[in-house]
Amino acid sequence: MILPGSTLGLVGGGQLGRMFAIAARRMGYRVHTFEPSPEGPAGQVSDREFNNSYDDVEALQTFAASVDVITFEFENIPAHVLQTLAAITPVHPNWNVLYVCQNREREKLFLRDHHYPHAEFAVVRSAGELKEAVQRIGTPSVLKTADFGYDGKGQKKLKDSVDAEALWREFNMPAGVLEKWVEFDCELSVVCARSASGQIETFPVSENIHTNHILDFSIVPARLPEKIQLEAQNLASKIAEDLNVVGLLAVEFFLTKEGKLIVNELAPRPHNSGHYSFDACVTSQFEQQLRAVCGLPLGSTRLLSPVVMVNILGDAWSQGTPNFAGVLSEPDTKLHLYGKSEAKAGRKMGHFCVLGSEIEETLARAEKLKELL
Ligand code: AMP
Repeated sequence: MILPGSTLGLVGGGQLGRMFAIAARRMGYRVHTFEPSPEGPAGQVSDREFNNSYDDVEALQTFAASVDVITFEFENIPAHVLQTLAAITPVHPNWNVLYVCQNREREKLFLRDHHYPHAEFAVVRSAGELKEAVQRIGTPSVLKTADFGYDGKGQKKLKDSVDAEALWREFNMPAGVLEKWVEFDCELSVVCARSASGQIETFPVSENIHTNHILDFSIVPARLPEKIQLEAQNLASKIAEDLNVVGLLAVEFFLTKEGKLIVNELAPRPHNSGHYSFDACVTSQFEQQLRAVCGLPLGSTRLLSPVVMVNILGDAWSQGTPNFAGVLSEPDTKLHLYGKSEAKAGRKMGHFCVLGSEIEETLARAEKLKELL
């Protein structure tokens, strides 16, 4: 067990790491962050920051030797980085979990091999393969990059007629996954934690509303039948077991019009749709990540209050500083800002959570506050 007073290593310096570091410091841990760019959201609240490149083996070794256990908050870390670190200090989740989840081809093959429900797909590496895949899967469908895709980046929706040659040239990536378009009723996600001893705790299901492929609102409790929610939590737990995750695993789902759950994506780290837990659960996803990687007993994920989380994107700065005072005029609102210096369109700058006693009414208040912003 890695007890309070120890030093935790965090790879990646974004907002997920910042909130992890805040949870860790609250429990008396020290945090060292490894992140190439200086002064990032996590670095600002860490005890020590290593601003070296992921190719700098010596810096990685010094970082690993300075901490008692290592976790990560960012998916696009080269897997060899975790291997270098793990030779010195335990890394959770292990590098193979990251290796599977960071690449859509490997992720989809994992889901298929383990018989989890997923959208029909084909891996494509050339214009010819894309043409064949479109013939087999049909349209509408979506072409996604195998690597480095997030928030809808590197995705192209295919409608009626497709010129595979032109599309492949424009796509300009070595590999892609063509996926059948899912006519979903809604999107939902589950964050689940698993400790080294195999203890598993799932957080309440979040109902997610995306705008322009980016999460806009998370609504908890989800307005979905109990049976579907339990099924989603069970699927997430089984996937965490099959992947041998020690830490967190977030699973995003589509719920089809026929009431069937389809796994869209996996992320072995805290998830945007789990931010509500910081304000509305006994244990937040960040504290749970810490507990899991430190070998502590997992905490209760009980929901204390209905909650709606609203993301604040850089767009909110288009007319100057957003109206934070307006948002805070509502006493049941909690504001989180990530300390990012530059507000760019589409960039996640913060979020706020609105707590309430009934979910529809809470959502209506959250929508009004978003407009105020
Ligand atoms: P992703 O980056 O794969 O999570 O995709 C971002 C968003 O695009 C998802 O949350 C969905 O809203 C939408 N999307 C992605 N793939 C599909 C699909 N196969 N069918 C329908 N919508 C999709």
